[in-house]
Amino acid sequence: MVINYREVDGLNDNSMFCELCCCDWDGDCPVHGPLKVIQDTKVPPGVGDRKRDVKTLPHFFSTGQSKISESSTGVWADRDLPARHRLGPYEGTLSTDRRQVRTTGYRWKIKKGDRVHHSVNAEDPSCSNWLRRVNCARSEEEANLIPFQHRGLIYFRFVTICFKFGYSCLVS
Ligand SMILES: [Zn+2]
Repeated sequence: MVINYREVDGLNDNSMFCELCCCDWDGDCPVHGPLKVIQDTKVPPGVGDRKRDVKTLPHFFSTGQSKISESSTGVWADRDLPARHRLGPYEGTLSTDRRQVRTTGYRWKIKKGDRVHHSVNAEDPSCSNWLRRVNCARSEEEANLIPFQHRGLIYFRFVTICFKFGYSCLVS
């Protein structure tokens, strides 16, 4: 069982998009610098803890029942957060089995160019982190997080200039 912590070489995915410059850079933006990192709470993986994903929630985020809509579950911001932050990486078990490489709510593809190199699967909460609890947006307009691949890992970053208190995290 392999947790997706390690960086993978040779995927040619070193470029980073800067929202403020509106362009890709080879590495971090030379004007605005690297994205700020919101660290997971550190929890050892792969020990059969079914609540491991919840325990990795960083400060400023909650999961469970929505404060806005009682019928929905997901992840919420507990305070306003500025733009240019990075969440993740998305953790899970790695698979190169092409039959399993399909995008479900708990699986992301890692690509080399246009081809799928492997996938990261977060169906098991004991081997994944809180990002598995982030819901997918129903439309591009609704999304406030955008997924991106960098050095073989999947991260989410804020789309908006300011991520508002109480808002549900929704990834496009
Ligand atoms: Zn920039």
